[in-house]
Amino acid sequence: MIPTVTKGRWLDVYACPECRGGLTRHADRWTCTACRFGYPVRDGVPVLARRATEAPGFVGTMKRSYGDPKPFLEMVRQRGWQSALRTIQIAGEPDRVAEAVAPNRVSWRHVVGVTGASLVVDIGAGTGGVACQLAATCDVIAIDRSYVDAAFVAIRSAQSGLESLDSIVAEACQLPLANGVADVVTLIGVLEWVPVDFPDSNPRESQLAALREAKRVLKPYGRLYLAIENRHYFAYYLGFPEPHARLRYISLMDREASDRYSRETRGTPFLEWTYTLQEYLALLNEAGFAQVEPYWLYPNYRLPNALVPADHPAAARWFTEEFLDPRQYGSRMQRDLYTYLRFAPPAHMTHAVRDFGFVACST
Ligand SMILES: [Zn+2]
Repeated sequence: MIPTVTKGRWLDVYACPECRGGLTRHADRWTCTACRFGYPVRDGVPVLARRATEAPGFVGTMKRSYGDPKPFLEMVRQRGWQSALRTIQIAGEPDRVAEAVAPNRVSWRHVVGVTGASLVVDIGAGTGGVACQLAATCDVIAIDRSYVDAAFVAIRSAQSGLESLDSIVAEACQLPLANGVADVVTLIGVLEWVPVDFPDSNPRESQLAALREAKRVLKPYGRLYLAIENRHYFAYYLGFPEPHARLRYISLMDREASDRYSRETRGTPFLEWTYTLQEYLALLNEAGFAQVEPYWLYPNYRLPNALVPADHPAAARWFTEEFLDPRQYGSRMQRDLYTYLRFAPPAHMTHAVRDFGFVACST
């Protein structure tokens, strides 16, 4: 059922990202009632951030062109979002249209407790695979630091007739929201990229800032859903390249060595930190989430078919016995991976899976 809630109700959930003052909405700008800063509205998309918003985002990275987004967005309007997305599909990469509508993009929603009455804040919305699907049943604020991504989601949502979705430009570490307004905040494939915007800061501190910001905007007993890679994925030991730096073994090194290695081989510091299961639990605790449930997201966090409790070895054993299909593991490395998942002691194996999901309760 499409909720009857209209965007007007959301007005009081927004706040100035700098001073938390209230915002007055006009067609061309939203003005802070406290510091008087005027945030521009570009083609219907509020830009509630003061730093540059020309980040290429998911769409820009697909286009491999970081210039004027206008011609592409015009094509999205004219031809429809699916058709436009197909024109920038990169050969050999996953089908981005299929990904953007795949039901398992949001298979975690029941575990996280999303209901028809929820207000979900999806941070790093990309092409809207999560935000637009959730908005069919509940209220969603889709946030992206990239203007082109946010504009894409706004057009997609309008073309899909979604009335319970707002798409805005904002930063994960400075959300333009009042305290305690969200039922659910999602960070799916986002936290590892947050430090890239703060190259002079310690990456963990930048990530803590984003998690604390998520906690700030959550209602009491609201839930954070964090989905992200495991630093100690078993395949990394077999030489599978780390997906952010695209370098082998880098996440297995200590932080200082990984930074030196990254600077020597790709000329940039290693900022895209991921963590072990225990390190994620410590990070979330430090950010103020006292109660955290860890899950093994199978086969990965983008399109999870299953959420297996990572702190429940018997459940993991049952899952690998009943559901892993050896025929899906073709290459030599994949067969090694299958053997490991299937036969390693489950209490070890759940620490070496590819991706984790964390449902963290804000008390
Ligand atoms: Zn202000």
